[in-house]
Amino acid sequence: MPVLPRPRKRLGQHFLIDPNIVRKILQVAALNPEDVVFEIGPGRGALTLALCERVARVIAVEIDRLLVEYLAQTCAQRDALELHHGDALDFPYDTLPAGTVVIANLPYYVSTPLVFRLLEERERIDRMVLMLQREVAERMVAAPGSRDYGLLSVVTQYLTKPRKAFVVPASCFRPVPQVDSAVVCLTGQAARHPTTPGFDDVFMKVVRAAFAHRRKTLINSCREEGWEEPVLRRALEEINIDPRRRAETLTVKEFIALTHSVRPLGLLKVH
Ligand code: SAM
Repeated sequence: MPVLPRPRKRLGQHFLIDPNIVRKILQVAALNPEDVVFEIGPGRGALTLALCERVARVIAVEIDRLLVEYLAQTCAQRDALELHHGDALDFPYDTLPAGTVVIANLPYYVSTPLVFRLLEERERIDRMVLMLQREVAERMVAAPGSRDYGLLSVVTQYLTKPRKAFVVPASCFRPVPQVDSAVVCLTGQAARHPTTPGFDDVFMKVVRAAFAHRRKTLINSCREEGWEEPVLRRALEEINIDPRRRAETLTVKEFIALTHSVRPLGLLKVH
């Protein structure tokens, strides 16, 4: 039997030990045998082995060399598995086939950058079933005006249709983490409106500037980020948005309208 490496907390190693949760994740993923799955952080293989039973191709990337060696031995008989050693942030996503399904129990310490990275690669991804810290999952699905609503909510809801599937208690992992987790499912290109090339980049700049100083009003936050106040006022007036509102009260639709209205004015400080 291969030797089981000790968990490394620094790498967010909290391994799933509850087979029921694996089953529920597979249910949410609704896999077809011909799906190609990309898994980030297979760890000791709790999800990986179940995925290899369901689909013909599982591409998995693991940063911990000892776990890659362990998995290579335990999964030697699984033809479906393509195991890569490396950082998922640097993975060559252009090698994934179109329509890939992402399934991952993400390491906490890097979950938000990984979500943003996956969203950047959304063209080749059909859907994502992600286990995250519960608080991060709640931010993704939060409604405007709520405490959790912020940059991550707006960007996720602009690019996908997120759904919180279920909560996973900390007791389902070893070592036991300090917080609960939740599984979210991100599908399709939800609230997409017809846009022109480069629109998404401007949208991102608008949203980042608006949320850069959370306690400030929309106009003050954007001004602090180097935007011209009179021009921004005009853009807001044009779409009937009160400049004294704060970013966390704007809906995704309002951010889209704001992007349309600031774009021709060229008031963005482009870095
Ligand atoms: N999938 C396994 C499970 O559910 O039991 C392990 C999940 S554990 C929360 C996260 C896994 O991601 C660990 O195996 C860890 O080594 C790996 N990991 C951490 N950072 C990573 C990164 N940047 N790229 C790829 N894998 C990473």
